[in-house]
Amino acid sequence: MSNNSDVIIVGGGVVGLTIARHLSLSGRKVSLFEKGACGQEASWAGAGVLTPTNPHRQDALHQFRDHSLKLYAHFCVAVQEESGIDPAYELCGELGLLLTENDVRIAEADVRAVADQSMPDGKSVIEVLTPESLRDLAPWLTTELFGARLKRSTAQIRNPRLMAALYGACEKAKVTIHEGTPVVEFVMEGDHVVGVRTDKERFSSEVVVLCTGAWSSQIDKRLASLMPVHPVKGQIVLLKMDERPFGPVVSRGKQYLVARQDGHVLSGSTEEPEAGFSKRSSAAGVSQLMTRAMAYVPGLSQASVVGSWAGLRPGTPDDRPYIGPVPGWPGLMAATGHYRSGLILAPATAEAVLAMLDGQTYAIDLTVCQPGRA
Ligand SMILES: Cc1cc2nc3c(=O)[nH]c(=O)nc-3n(C[C@H](O)[C@H](O)[C@H](O)COP(=O)(O)OP(=O)(O)OC[C@H]3O[C@@H](n4cnc5c(N)ncnc54)[C@H](O)[C@@H]3O)c2cc1C
Repeated sequence: MSNNSDVIIVGGGVVGLTIARHLSLSGRKVSLFEKGACGQEASWAGAGVLTPTNPHRQDALHQFRDHSLKLYAHFCVAVQEESGIDPAYELCGELGLLLTENDVRIAEADVRAVADQSMPDGKSVIEVLTPESLRDLAPWLTTELFGARLKRSTAQIRNPRLMAALYGACEKAKVTIHEGTPVVEFVMEGDHVVGVRTDKERFSSEVVVLCTGAWSSQIDKRLASLMPVHPVKGQIVLLKMDERPFGPVVSRGKQYLVARQDGHVLSGSTEEPEAGFSKRSSAAGVSQLMTRAMAYVPGLSQASVVGSWAGLRPGTPDDRPYIGPVPGWPGLMAATGHYRSGLILAPATAEAVLAMLDGQTYAIDLTVCQPGRA
């Protein structure tokens, strides 16, 4: 086979592009294959909320998430310098709405769990705000609340811009990018993966890294038993106000409102595993997201409706990603199944993949993310 690389990345979403950039900067010759255009699937469709882990959970995956969040500000500065595109990283904070007395008790337990941590300016990481203080601090919020949990370390990025910045950073790092080029199968020598085949050509590499998001069980159906990944549709509605109506992310469970600097507000998101690979916006989904937006921030009833879209999160049976060598498939690594947190986890995933390729022990034990786990 001609077309040699050290590493082939399959999939040009946030995970594939971040890994491609990282491996190329480490000195490897990297080729990336994307079936459509890079950064147009889940990584574009997401909301770009970078929210910290549940303070009561300290397992390896949560350490991994917190570590990735710590990398983020620097990661955004680096890709901006390399590409000239600003991903608009902003430490905006988050107000989690407390709608019942039990919500308040849970939030107070969260505050106790992080009592030994503080922000760089010395302020507490989590604080419970009373309805009275919210009337001064966030008069734009609904008053039908028992309070709000302020998480000061939540940030946001404009993920379509991050994708454009990553693309530029990969070009600068001399990653060879093949768009409109689906990988149709792995090239095998015995049981070793030694490259990929597109509909036109074969390409060889020492390692293939599978970063195909919701489509990860599709190239070779045998992988579905080792690392089953399924699409979980999520819809978002985009609104626009003349000015930014609020700063912090507003959240309630899996629902959130994200206000961008220019007055755009995202209301997200639905969770529809039954929708398969459909990316259709539905009347029911849009109606639910609009109703919640206006219930949480009544002033949004004045907003213009810009549009709606849906994306496919790569879901797994235990909600954990698959990161690492695929057992029984020498030459194949996985970095997929990041479900609701692929934007958050991309920088640390790239770091972990590089450590594994270098034969180093990664600082966080990612056994919980191994492909082939029971
Ligand atoms: C509505 C919504 C809101 C979200 N909000 C957030 C959020 O706030 N924060 C967060 O961290 N995460 C969020 N997520 C999740 C996040 O978007 C995903 O976890 C992340 O984008 C997954 O990245 P990926 O690169 O694995 O997948 P993708 O971005 O889907 O990229 C996979 C790529 O692989 C390509 N591909 C597939 N098959 C092949 C093939 N055979 N050959 C070549 N290329 C192929 C696809 O075309 C695609 O471009 C959200 C997701 C959705 C849908």
